[in-house]
Amino acid sequence: SQKKQTNEIKGKPIPGIKNIVAVASGKGGVGKSTITANLAVSLSKLGFKVGLLDADIYGPSGPIMFDVANEKPLSVNVNGKSKMKPIENYGVKMLSIGFFTKPDQAVIWRGPMAAKALNQMIFDADWGELDFLLVDLPPGTGDIHLSIMQSMPITGAVVVSTPQNVALADAKKGVAMFNQESINVPVLGIVENMAYFTPAELPDHKYYIFGEKGASYLAKDLDVPFLGEIPLVQSLRESGDIGRPAALQDDTLLSNAFLELTRNVV
Ligand code: ADP
Repeated sequence: SQKKQTNEIKGKPIPGIKNIVAVASGKGGVGKSTITANLAVSLSKLGFKVGLLDADIYGPSGPIMFDVANEKPLSVNVNGKSKMKPIENYGVKMLSIGFFTKPDQAVIWRGPMAAKALNQMIFDADWGELDFLLVDLPPGTGDIHLSIMQSMPITGAVVVSTPQNVALADAKKGVAMFNQESINVPVLGIVENMAYFTPAELPDHKYYIFGEKGASYLAKDLDVPFLGEIPLVQSLRESGDIGRPAALQDDTLLSNAFLELTRNVV
């Protein structure tokens, strides 16, 4: 389909990688990394070959969410060139800026340095054949986004937001960034995270803690697809912390919600 065609205006296509999908949020803490991790796992469950580039230079959480925080990517020789080998778990190949920093050290990357590190993780890595490479972007709409978008042939972008007004305002900026003429990345749609909360003792209740359906209204407003909603669930937070994404399970509320979301992305 149209959205699957590599955007050839910017960056050369990367041999072996069919689609690069950026996951963005206007604001930090809305669940962008959680959504990315579970999209990656769901894509793998659907039979796709998946990679995840954790490009969140401010708070790389990919290694923890995939329980590979103690791993270090090895350097391998591919056709006479030295390449970084992604770490694989749960059917997802991953590289993260977190593999190259000390866990308890705050990293202050200068834009060009971060861009260079990320470029190496894309172009000098042994990703092999991938149907999807998901890129977990840093929150916001800064310089680093511009350089990523201008150097990588990104197929499309997913924007994550909570239904809260301040988050929506920032998500709107995120969509505007992708639409900018100099970037021009198709927005595949908006995901509403933390859409509602249902307490165990009141299984028929939905509490709209961050507001009701804000992200779906925003999608309509901006004329971009609404990809789906993920509720606020304690076990989703826990699954991230223990490094076993909720989408790995079969036929649970969360794993089904992530599968539905994923089907709307592909
Ligand atoms: P971001 O990447 O946008 O900064 P994270 O994915 O790191 O956000 O999520 C922020 C925090 O919220 C994490 O502790 C994560 O486990 C938790 N979280 C994200 N989405 C949900 C959800 N739907 N239900 C419960 N906790 C969530």
